[in-house]
Amino acid sequence: MSIYTSGGILAYCIAVAAFLGAAFGSFLNCAAWRVAHKEPWWKGRSRCPVCGHTLEVPDLVPVFSWLFLRGKCRHCGTKISPRYVLTEVFFALVTVACLMRFDLTVVCLRNWVLLCCLFCLSLVDLESYIIPDETLILAAVTWFVTIPFVGMEVSEIIAHIITGVGLGGGILLLSLAMDRILKRDSLGGGDIKLFALVGLYLGPVASLFAVLLAAALGLVFVALGKGKANQGMIPFGPSIAAATAIMLLWGDGMVTWYLGLLGI
Ligand SMILES: [Zn+2]
Repeated sequence: MSIYTSGGILAYCIAVAAFLGAAFGSFLNCAAWRVAHKEPWWKGRSRCPVCGHTLEVPDLVPVFSWLFLRGKCRHCGTKISPRYVLTEVFFALVTVACLMRFDLTVVCLRNWVLLCCLFCLSLVDLESYIIPDETLILAAVTWFVTIPFVGMEVSEIIAHIITGVGLGGGILLLSLAMDRILKRDSLGGGDIKLFALVGLYLGPVASLFAVLLAAALGLVFVALGKGKANQGMIPFGPSIAAATAIMLLWGDGMVTWYLGLLGI
């Protein structure tokens, strides 16, 4: 049952989620940029990359600062990349979608942490072809720590853990076989660990869908020509992350339909 008994509460919750999402989108984008450029993500204040001015409160309000300053630095007038405002708006939408799907529950918080990690690792992977272990560890720890509060049955918990281990292990074996056939590295170690995380969160059936969807999105990504610049290296993390987020937020209908086909 939804907590949103009146339109006013619903609008208020959406507004808070959107603002929180935009603020975290901004933070994750900044953290991802620092990790991709081998800088510690927690250190120092944000600066204008051109004039070096430390950004202050009027520069840092998500989305609104960018709009009011017309996409320019307040001090030197240099154009600010739309990447900032786009990541803020995108993650605001993701956060609202997560709240609408799971309501104000621990499950919502758990899945939102996963979405934060997926978003951050995608940005890092796009830029530097690396999936940072920190994001995977944070999401995995969150999953285990929240077990007592999400009302999962023991059999369900075991099924999710087995799926995580099985999917990670299965993809590892597949990638080792592919490496031998193709005589080059096929999947990165980060991708394999990410698949283990996907299994842990989604469980057996939804994970299967996520793998297929990730492969399909990966092919679209290749077709769009991304990664050609770097000796045929293609970051697979964003495709896996997008497939996982889609299954997490909207996968129930697909799974029900599929099980219906099998008569389960
Ligand atoms: Zn500036």
